[in-house]
Amino acid sequence: MVFSPASLALMSTLLMGGLGWLQLIELRLQDAQATLTRHVVDSDLVIVEIDAKSLNQLKQWPWPRGYHAQLLDKLRAAGVADIFYDVDFSAESTPTEDQKLIQAVRAYKKERVMLPGFIQPASSLGQNDLIVTTPLPALSQNSVLASVNMRPDRDGLIRTVSTHWHINDTTAILAGVRMLQATNPPNTYRINYSIEPRSFTRLSFKDVLNGHFDTAQLRNKHIIVGATAIELGDILPVPVYNALPGAVIQALAYQTLSEGILKPTSALTNWGLLIALTLLMAGIFMIVGWGRALLFVAVGVFALLAISTYCFQKWHLILPTAQPITLLISGFGFFLITRLEQQHLRLLIQALDIRRKDALMSSVVNNSMDAIITMSDQGVIKSVNPATRTLFQLGSDNIAGKHISEFILDFETGDQPMDTLGMCAKGMRKTVEKQARQANGKVFPVEISPNKMLFENEVVFTVFVRDISERFSQRAILQHQATHDSLTGLANRYQLNHTLQKIINSPQDKPASFALILIDLDKFKDINDSLGHAVGDQVLVQVAERFASQIKKNMLLARIGGDEFTVLMSTQDNTLDATQLAESLHQSLQQPFTVNDLSLEVDASFGISLYPEHANDAGLLLQHADTAMYAAKHGSMGPTLFKPEFAEMNTLRMTVSTSLRKAMAESQLNMHYQPKLDLATNTITCVEALLRWQHPEMGYIPPDKIIDIAENTGLIWPLTEWTLTRALRDLNTWTSHGHRVQVAVNLSARLLQDASLIDRISQCIRAAEADPRSLILEITESAIMSDPARALKNALSLRAIGIDLSIDDFGTGYSSLSYLKTLPATELKIDKSFVMEMLNQKTDYLIVQSTINLAHTLGLKVVAEGVESEAVLSALRKLGCDLIQGYHISKPAPHDQLQSWLSSQASSTRTVLSQRM
Ligand code: C2E
Ligand code: CA
Ligand code: CA
Repeated sequence: MVFSPASLALMSTLLMGGLGWLQLIELRLQDAQATLTRHVVDSDLVIVEIDAKSLNQLKQWPWPRGYHAQLLDKLRAAGVADIFYDVDFSAESTPTEDQKLIQAVRAYKKERVMLPGFIQPASSLGQNDLIVTTPLPALSQNSVLASVNMRPDRDGLIRTVSTHWHINDTTAILAGVRMLQATNPPNTYRINYSIEPRSFTRLSFKDVLNGHFDTAQLRNKHIIVGATAIELGDILPVPVYNALPGAVIQALAYQTLSEGILKPTSALTNWGLLIALTLLMAGIFMIVGWGRALLFVAVGVFALLAISTYCFQKWHLILPTAQPITLLISGFGFFLITRLEQQHLRLLIQALDIRRKDALMSSVVNNSMDAIITMSDQGVIKSVNPATRTLFQLGSDNIAGKHISEFILDFETGDQPMDTLGMCAKGMRKTVEKQARQANGKVFPVEISPNKMLFENEVVFTVFVRDISERFSQRAILQHQATHDSLTGLANRYQLNHTLQKIINSPQDKPASFALILIDLDKFKDINDSLGHAVGDQVLVQVAERFASQIKKNMLLARIGGDEFTVLMSTQDNTLDATQLAESLHQSLQQPFTVNDLSLEVDASFGISLYPEHANDAGLLLQHADTAMYAAKHGSMGPTLFKPEFAEMNTLRMTVSTSLRKAMAESQLNMHYQPKLDLATNTITCVEALLRWQHPEMGYIPPDKIIDIAENTGLIWPLTEWTLTRALRDLNTWTSHGHRVQVAVNLSARLLQDASLIDRISQCIRAAEADPRSLILEITESAIMSDPARALKNALSLRAIGIDLSIDDFGTGYSSLSYLKTLPATELKIDKSFVMEMLNQKTDYLIVQSTINLAHTLGLKVVAEGVESEAVLSALRKLGCDLIQGYHISKPAPHDQLQSWLSSQASSTRTVLSQRM
């Protein structure tokens, strides 16, 4: 604030005022005011001029004093009020003439006549010595001494008069003061030059002397007699009128006093005005621009002058304007300076900023990893950054002037370059991938983004070039990953679909027909579950290799799921038809696979669908191949071509799954029971519960099918709970009839891994109010092997609550003995496939024999199932088998039939047993 334009202006204005620099300006301003307000007044003062006319007529100068005496007499006769006779009578002339004058003066009352007296320096060298010049003593005695001293201002102009002086007992008084008999006039006062000298009546000395005047003009008037002729030299410089005779100035001094003297405004007013203006200016400068500031100053100056002039004219008040005007103008000056300063500073900062940005820019360009090339719109290179040299292996060769197409390959070919450049010309920046060539000839992929700019009125292109070799190889890897199976390296499901879509949807590449072969490995899950995933993976890799060896180049072999493979082949120009190929693929699986010294047999089911015969789209084609494969698997058929009936079967499968829940509720489901005979006691110790479903439309559905569907449709738990509840309920009936048997329920392989197994089974037992010790759960080998740890945990819990465990279908899976050892089973069932043929097949017999021995070593009871003849029964008895089960004893039978069978058995046990022994 202290250094705001307004306060700076105030300080400088005060300083200028203090140094007196504004004084002259102030005077000139006031002169101007006077000039502006010049006016004529009605005056009672008459000037009698000693003019050129009078000098001419009276011929000599100085005149004999008798002339003056005559004039005085004439004036006295005309009855004037008083006279200031402004002629120097300090020196003597001739005694006669002097005497005439003295006589004439004496004729007046003393106070009516004023004669001039003045003070002047004794010499031009010193000012201290003043000499007072007065009229001759005789004249002085009879007149009043009038002061005629006037002190010029610094510019030499007469503006003020002294009202009196007093030196060495001599007192002189200003004629005007005397004439007006003013009391307490100020020591000096300023002559009001706005009064026109024309206001005074002027009479020529000569005319008065000759009596050529109207007496009325002079009566009671104040008279000043003085020289106006130029040659008499009494002409003084004044403002407004340039020069006026001393007598006229005296007249104006009189008139000024008569009108009222000019009073300056008080110091308080002047200060107040300055402060007020400063504050106003400060406020205004803060909110306006330079244009309005200038307007404000101009209006301010004008207003000040107008007000001051008005005050002068109206109240004879002198309002100093030099300082306020200086304040305003210098304020504006400072305002401009600070504005310019700010502007200048801003420009300076901008310049620095630009320089900094330039430096930053060039450092960015120089350190950029991307090559940056500038070139003309014709492709002629202008400059390159260091990265360009590295990228293109340029060394220090001069490349300015070379064509861009030497480095970016297809810039020159066809419309491509213009296209690219045209793009940015239209303001559409575009990044394109192109091939680039290094100096050594190596070609590599780059991404270029050209930008058009105007540089010093010339169109220039900057081209950013980035090496994307890395990205390319990365992309290739990703693409391979996305389209290939990581295990076998074959194409994956995505690529199969993609290829199918491509073939089907692009008309020009569309072959007349093609075939899709879908291959699903049989019982692969068992391998995985029993030998572990590592072995399973090895099998898959080897299968893929065998398939690949059968495949021709234009076919697509893919692995689309765990153990699912597909082959896509064109059938138009191929002699080998799809079924033949499928057959040879099947054939390739004949040789056992060797993994970790294990010899594994792997079979697969093949389904084939044809385009366009079977389907027009990829999804349906795949679905049909799957249906055909499913049919092949369940019908134990070789490679199978899709038939519409398969699709119907498929829908049947869907119907079964949806009606299973209903079947449970509506008692379409039923349980049959098959007894196990203990060979040592010849008694029935246990019956196995087997599921039966007579579907109203589809007829009998085998239990393993039902389980398969239930497992795949989320119904396995409800179904298991249903069978368990039914079996335990029926058991309760038999028990109540006095038959002490256990009931064996088959447990789906999957459920042995289920965490909720114990809870759910205990719940069923509790609900049936049964004894857990009367329950045997039959679990298959594969159920144990998929996650032995979890299976073991569940098995232990089941045993802990008293449930017996039986290992079912032993010999069909890939069980590991070490697991069998740890498993808390009570019984082992030899699969019926070995038992049924044991008397015909030597190997089966050996298997049965060694299994019985093995089980006994592990402390397990052995059950042989599928016993259909007495011969087999005897053989088993010899081998030490503990229990037998099979059609030879009893077929599975409904609960009531079994009950009566049990009753009849109890009574005839002895007979039957004795027969069988
Ligand atoms: P599994 O547990 O091995 O049952 C023995 C199968 O052999 C039964 O077939 C039975 O009828 C049959 N069978 C018994 N004795 C002889 C015989 O002397 N000769 C011949 N050729 N076969 C005989 P089924 O009832 O068709 O059951 C097939 C499979 O379905 C069962 O094999 C079992 O794994 C499964 N299953 C049956 N019911 C259920 C059930 O309630 N729950 C579960 N999870 N699975 C069940
Ligand atoms: Ca069983
Ligand atoms: Ca079995």
